[in-house]
Amino acid sequence: GGAVAFEDVVFGYEADRTILNGVSFAVGAGETLAIVGPSGAGKSTIARLLFRFYDPQGGRILIDGQDIRAVTQQSLRAAIGIVPQDTVLFNDSIGYNIAYGRADARVEEIAEAAKGAAIDGFIAMLPQGYETEVGERGLKLSGGEKQRVAIARTLLKNPPVLILDEATSALDSRTEAAIQDTLERIAERRTTLVIAHRLSTVTSADRIIVLDRGRVAETGTHDQLLAMR
Ligand code: ADP
Ligand code: ADP
Repeated sequence: GGAVAFEDVVFGYEADRTILNGVSFAVGAGETLAIVGPSGAGKSTIARLLFRFYDPQGGRILIDGQDIRAVTQQSLRAAIGIVPQDTVLFNDSIGYNIAYGRADARVEEIAEAAKGAAIDGFIAMLPQGYETEVGERGLKLSGGEKQRVAIARTLLKNPPVLILDEATSALDSRTEAAIQDTLERIAERRTTLVIAHRLSTVTSADRIIVLDRGRVAETGTHDQLLAMR
């Protein structure tokens, strides 16, 4: 599962200002769709609507063919995972940070998620492994390490739909490239929506939509869109 569709979605945070003005796109189960556009274009708004932080004023949003208004908040949250751009970690252990919100998570599951996020080697070097404290109380993590913890946290949920919201934009370019590799590997195995500023960062998406002034201005593969410029 994990197919996502927006059908003619109209949305504004305020009555007199429309942010999405009839946005339609579909991404099949297991596919990767990138949403590209300038800052303020409405990219993160699309993610917020998927989580039903807000409901659109027009159109429909479907997951696996079902209107998300008919899905419980709990199963919607289980279905969608997001790797945010700026990861905030708790002043607690690495293990707690990965399992955040999951009191039932077992150490083996956490270890598997850490492996998926490519932080298993890093954890092996820590004095107490998953029990190592981070933040003010303990070890200070680099931006890349924090981001990998955030990826592991999302992988632990094993959501059919993954949203990568400018997930590497806060990192230096070398760390960004390394994490991009990990994210591409993860994206291969599930439905993924990649939110990005620049076309150059989404070379591996199956399809790209370019948002402009509340509409889908262009659709195509990376090569097709490059050829249009
Ligand atoms: P992007 O992710 O493409 O940078 P956003 O989806 O975050 O854009 O924002 C789209 C537009 O909606 C922007 O003009 C932004 O100022 C506005 N916006 C975002 N959140 C809110 C909010 N909570 N209330 C009012 N306007 C908002
Ligand atoms: P969970 O603990 O199961 O991840 P949360 O209630 O913390 O559930 O939030 C659901 C998801 O929504 C989380 O993955 C979180 O990162 C994401 N989220 C929170 N705030 C925003 C936001 N403003 N825009 C997009 N996604 C968000």
